[in-house]
Amino acid sequence: MNQTLSESAPTLMWFRRDLRLSDHPALRAACARGAPVIPVFIRDPLVDALGTAPAWRLGLGLSGFGRRLDGAGSRLILRSGPALPVLRALIEETGARAVFWSRAYDAPAIARDTEIKAALRAEGIEARSLPGHLLFEPWEARTKQGGFFRVYTPFWRAVSAREVAAPLPVPSCLPAPGTWPATEALSDWGLGRGMNRGAAIVAPHLAVGEAAAEARLERFLSGPVEGYRERRDHPAEESTSRLSENLALGEISPRVVWHAGLRAQAAGAPGAGHFLRELVWREFAWHLLHHTPHIATRNWRDEWDMFPWRDDNPEAERWRRGQTGVTLVDAAMREMYVTGTMHNRGRMIVASYLTKHLLTHWRVGLRWFEECLVDWDPASNAMGWQWAAGSGAHPAPDLRIMDPAPPPPRLHHHLTETR
Ligand code: FAD
Repeated sequence: MNQTLSESAPTLMWFRRDLRLSDHPALRAACARGAPVIPVFIRDPLVDALGTAPAWRLGLGLSGFGRRLDGAGSRLILRSGPALPVLRALIEETGARAVFWSRAYDAPAIARDTEIKAALRAEGIEARSLPGHLLFEPWEARTKQGGFFRVYTPFWRAVSAREVAAPLPVPSCLPAPGTWPATEALSDWGLGRGMNRGAAIVAPHLAVGEAAAEARLERFLSGPVEGYRERRDHPAEESTSRLSENLALGEISPRVVWHAGLRAQAAGAPGAGHFLRELVWREFAWHLLHHTPHIATRNWRDEWDMFPWRDDNPEAERWRRGQTGVTLVDAAMREMYVTGTMHNRGRMIVASYLTKHLLTHWRVGLRWFEECLVDWDPASNAMGWQWAAGSGAHPAPDLRIMDPAPPPPRLHHHLTETR
């Protein structure tokens, strides 16, 4: 086959939160060009801004993904610096004429990517962003009036009726360039620096990489999904999938999870439908973040700007340390410190406690989660905190206060009977 120079020139595949080979539209498109593909990860200012646990977890993910690429006859090239000059330097060094990546939907990443796309295209480079992080692009779901959804149930109705395309297979080959560009050493990046002694404690709770994520999904669907609907709200049980850690870095695609959930539902697993609904909460969070980027930084509803939240304070510090004296709150906070994640019910309770009992601004909690969670996700974290604080898009939670110390079941029964 005759190829023009531009067609045979390498493609830079810029990986970000998509550390996988399966169901990867941008990677498939890069391979389909038929030219060598050079996988790249850039430690740019957005990576440097990550909290301690997410940065450490990213380092582990990159290490595993690099090995996966090695096994596929390819390589992960690591570079650091602002992304545009780094990409330009790689284009210069390799003669690449195309740069592909998976789309991101948070404001800082959108600003970076928009500038890069315009600049590269102006220089005659094929710069393409493709979907892959979500089931539906955030702008695809529209209300009848053409706006975006503020409430989950109508969002669910709108998106659950849509077809989700089948996942793409792993590319059959990743064409390598004649000469690989130089790479920096991951160990020099110090992504785990902040974890110090915590790393050894948290590490046994992780499942790093694509194979581990797929195994997690399979384990969940071969058992816990059965009782998921009833048991998912019990913080002491391992009844959920724990896939958030892998979804956050794209080690598994939401389409793979969605289709596996559909198959389980078709096979009669009672909790599968509920699991699919939960997965769509993640979509809803990205839908909200995309349409109202300020959800990550200020109250979704302005009237909450008048609320006299306290800034950081000594009680919030005790909350962070799991030393409030309220057993369930402290247990959940320590769970996060020890395992890198927290059960969803725990997150709701500690967030309610910080904002409603300690009257501390939700941003204080949001920042601590951003620091500690290995599944940190800007959209779900922001939506979760605003929901718990009552300042978010979801209606009527203003006065919802989650009881961090519910009475024992017998007493509760007595109280409700005599009321
Ligand atoms: P499962 O119950 O197995 O659910 C499957 C998947 O559905 C999850 O992996 C997740 O992708 C999605 N999902 C489930 N529940 C939610 C939800 N309430 N919101 C959004 N997506 C959901 N999730 C994060 O991934 N990162 C965060 O930083 C994060 N911060 C949160 C902060 C607060 C204050 C609250 C209340 C919730 C937060 N969540 C966050 C949402 C939720 O707690 C986690 O997604 C869930 O606990 C992950 O566990 P799992 O993978 O076992 O979930």
